[in-house]
Amino acid sequence: MNEQEFDAMLAKYADVAIEVGLNLRKGQRLMIQAIIEDAPFVRKVAESAYKAGAVYVDILWTDERLTRIRFETAEPESLTEIPNWSIARYEEYLSRGDALLSIASQDPDLLNGINPELIGKSMKARAEKFEAVRKYENQYNWCVVSTASPAWAKKIFPDAPEAEAQSKLWEAIFNSCRIDTPNPVEAWKNHITILLKYKKYLNAKKYTALHYTAPGTDLTLGLPEKHQWMAAESTFKNGITGTVNLPTEEVFTLPHKDKADGVVTASRPLNLQGNLVEDFSLTFENGRVVKVTARKGEEILQKLIETDENAGRLGEAALVPNSSPISQRGHLFYNTLFDENAACHIALGNAYRDSVVGGTEMSKEELLSHGANQSLIHVDFMIGSAEMDIDGVTADGTHEAIMRKGEWAFNV
Ligand code: ZN
Ligand code: ZN
Repeated sequence: MNEQEFDAMLAKYADVAIEVGLNLRKGQRLMIQAIIEDAPFVRKVAESAYKAGAVYVDILWTDERLTRIRFETAEPESLTEIPNWSIARYEEYLSRGDALLSIASQDPDLLNGINPELIGKSMKARAEKFEAVRKYENQYNWCVVSTASPAWAKKIFPDAPEAEAQSKLWEAIFNSCRIDTPNPVEAWKNHITILLKYKKYLNAKKYTALHYTAPGTDLTLGLPEKHQWMAAESTFKNGITGTVNLPTEEVFTLPHKDKADGVVTASRPLNLQGNLVEDFSLTFENGRVVKVTARKGEEILQKLIETDENAGRLGEAALVPNSSPISQRGHLFYNTLFDENAACHIALGNAYRDSVVGGTEMSKEELLSHGANQSLIHVDFMIGSAEMDIDGVTADGTHEAIMRKGEWAFNV
């Protein structure tokens, strides 16, 4: 791809983020969270947003090197310091229902070697501070996309020179996000239609539980009575329907916070703030993790589960066929946005309000009483593989095949 071709692809990608991801409306303001390496893409997004009628585009820039410098240099007690204005900025946008685009291109090794205790403390302080704006969840249209930042690209393709690693990662992003098709917006419409059919099928079934089996996994997740399957599209209180993740291949719901039992073994490593957790298993009883084992990163995983009283319970169960285009690339992305779309996954921590019927109108207490977990964290990890079978359990106890050997076991 020459420079001109790349520039054109970047512009198409920006258009997809604005039209399919955010479905930005004329007159909306847009806030973008980005790292400084994202700048060329951010400029294209701003252009596309203004063309679509945005009235103001605001960028929250982060220099991630500064994050590491702070951990390495600042007094440990000061790592919980967060100025109020930084929350106020979110509050202003989110409370009005403005659009939010997050760009997730972080260096997966950013905090490698930093004391997990300090990372845990700072993560918790930030999550607590942001609790104040959590009440605006579902009020605004949001979307997460990624760019091929140099550090991330080098992590995936360590043997290639930086420029080559970056262009390989761009190729993977453009391909996974259907930007390399003649009409990406049309391609997305077709893809979303298919995902919505799976969602509809599963919602009609009203399963009471899911049963997962694979090497190292025998897990039963009870589903709340009011659970609802979601895919590809979300409708927000500002009246806009968008697609929150680009790419997206998942159909997901929530497990009941008190109804996870058995053992689950991760099928891919988990990257926690620059620390890799590898070959790990979690044992659940009555919804809660009672045992953690990991060949690498056990301490940081344990710390994560101790973030708050419900961090050791589950908030999401997502189905992704093993043949998904991202899975077929055959390598880890070290980035949840991509890795979670390569395999079935579950998430520790918070459940999405809209995976409960009527959930967006419920108080925290009501959500809990319907089995929707409430926590400061939401961390996805991959459990699916070509060896995974999943059954849906009906109200009368019948087991029906949902997935066999990692693929959908029914037609839609
Ligand atoms: Zn998911
Ligand atoms: Zn998730």
